[in-house]
Amino acid sequence: MARKVLVLEDESSIRSFIVINLTRAGYEVIEAETGEDALEKLKSGADIRVALLDIMLPGIDGFEVCRRIRATNTRIGIIMLTARSQEMDKVTGLMTGADDYVTKPFSPAELTARVDALFRRAGGAAPEQAGEIRQEPFLLNTRNRTLEKNGQRVKLTQVEYSIMKMFMENPGKALSREEILDTVWGRDYFGELKIVDVNIRRLRLKIEDNAQNPTYINTVWGYGYKWGF
Ligand code: CA
Repeated sequence: MARKVLVLEDESSIRSFIVINLTRAGYEVIEAETGEDALEKLKSGADIRVALLDIMLPGIDGFEVCRRIRATNTRIGIIMLTARSQEMDKVTGLMTGADDYVTKPFSPAELTARVDALFRRAGGAAPEQAGEIRQEPFLLNTRNRTLEKNGQRVKLTQVEYSIMKMFMENPGKALSREEILDTVWGRDYFGELKIVDVNIRRLRLKIEDNAQNPTYINTVWGYGYKWGF
């Protein structure tokens, strides 16, 4: 199976650094210099499974690219390349539909680990047991990896789907943020716990009747979250 990754970065030195390291790790890398270029290449490369998106670009920025990709593609894994000084970028990036972010400057090991983790998930490596979990008004289909609320399809990213599955398999149980991070992102993931909160915030906007006053995904203060009614 092709291990295709798209790299969108306008600075050629950083782009080369990424390309060299991902190629060394066994990936086939498709390069893009602008957001427009990246969207064009994604259109013609349906088997690209992970995209790395720089934020500051000439033309449309990385957030906009992310938004446009997510409008039609929920399966692809997206990692934002953020600058250390732009703390808010991480949150904004995740809110526009990214799965993860890497802060520049990053080491080859860190970059490869992040791409590997997302690639495994985007590929759905382990075939899931066919079936569905029904908890009104929700229906999670573990074969198609889809979610419906009141019979209406809710568009989820792979990360959001994985979180929902964990919740629906553990109704009423308080799940710590560490537990969620381990299950959804993998034990070898070395990101921050905050990524859990940001994804939960985004998920609430999609599934709650009122995200300001959530009734399905409840916060367990100082600990984590609980799926319950
Ligand atoms: Ca840039």
